[in-house]
Amino acid sequence: MSSTILVTGATGYIGSHTCLELLESGYQLIGIDNLSNSREESLRRVQKLSGKPLTFIRCDLLDEAGLARVFAEHPVDAVIHFAGLKAVGESVEKPLLYYKNNLSGTANLLEAMANAEVKNIVFSSSCTVYGIPEKLPISEDFPLQAVSPYGQTKLTIEYMLQDLHASDPQWNISILRYFNPVRAHPSGDIGEDPSGIPNNLMPYITQVAVGEREQLSVFGGDYDTPDGTCIRDYIHVVDLAKGHIKALEKLQDNPGAVITNLGTGQGYSVLDMIRAFAAATGIKIPYQIVERRAGDTTAVYADAGKAERDLGWKAKRDLQQMCKDAHRWQSKNPRGYL
Ligand code: NAD
Ligand code: UDP
Repeated sequence: MSSTILVTGATGYIGSHTCLELLESGYQLIGIDNLSNSREESLRRVQKLSGKPLTFIRCDLLDEAGLARVFAEHPVDAVIHFAGLKAVGESVEKPLLYYKNNLSGTANLLEAMANAEVKNIVFSSSCTVYGIPEKLPISEDFPLQAVSPYGQTKLTIEYMLQDLHASDPQWNISILRYFNPVRAHPSGDIGEDPSGIPNNLMPYITQVAVGEREQLSVFGGDYDTPDGTCIRDYIHVVDLAKGHIKALEKLQDNPGAVITNLGTGQGYSVLDMIRAFAAATGIKIPYQIVERRAGDTTAVYADAGKAERDLGWKAKRDLQQMCKDAHRWQSKNPRGYL
């Protein structure tokens, strides 16, 4: 459809990987970010990898005048909206920060889009909106439940977008519910760059592998799963990024407001991931089973059928590749983009 895409949260983890896929697919790009959780270096590398330029503008979604200027100065056909705060624990401690940044930021963005007559958007939601699922795999029509302020912002933005479409059917909206993205582009030049001690499993594993951390704590060994550890649907970030291109293309068909899971449909336990990492890299990760982490759900994995039927998208990269690419990124960049 459109050739110029505005990406919010462009310098961030999933944003930067998606920018690379967009450039490689021939789109023109305007990236915006306030750099609160990322560095411009990611997009320098994206441009180097693709051999193509993009425009980056430092802009905060809470700055309405700044946003209006971006839309006034650049013709935009569609928006992919990644920008937001995403740490579940922090959202429990600072709920107002999350509500203000994620909800007001998104409302400002949608208003600026409407004023500029840009009515095509792909939005990053999360499988967290399913809360504790009653059965598995999780399909898009499951009941929704937010279990943290972060999850509540995702759910509220989903409703905001659906209400917007109901009020004006010219809007084309694709809501993507991600499962667990895993780390890095195969070049090892761009990847996930968490600050401080990683909360997520794969960054922790790769930091142990390069000697940045001593051992992995496995949170809980007494869950009702085959090996006692929690199960998740881990998806290679390049597959996830490609899903955004498919969702963008689909907006041409005026689908209305649609919701799609982006996962592999396969669940793996924490111990499966440790084994897969050893098989892919030859590195055994020392670990210790400790107490459960508060708020963890026993098992979560997607029904990935709708994405295949509606978007023609399916995750292709297996655990072996996820682990290899995650390790390559960590080895080439032991301290991230620093
Ligand atoms: P990230 O933190 O790397 O990227 C988000 C970017 O948004 C950051 O670069 C940050 O600086 C920017 N940002 C935050 N608030 C902003 C504001 N007010 N104005 C402008 N920029 C702002 O996170 P990510 O992992 O790339 O996640 C991207 C999106 O996907 C987020 O909305 C996140 O909630 C969602 N998501 C992520 C995961 C995951 O596991 N990484 C899972 C499900 C959904
Ligand atoms: N996990 C773990 N040790 C860690 C980080 C995570 O055992 O240092 C477990 C966590 O309890 C969960 C799984 O790995 O069962 C995935 O956790 P992550 O935080 O990556 O994703 P989420 O819980 O948000 O799905």
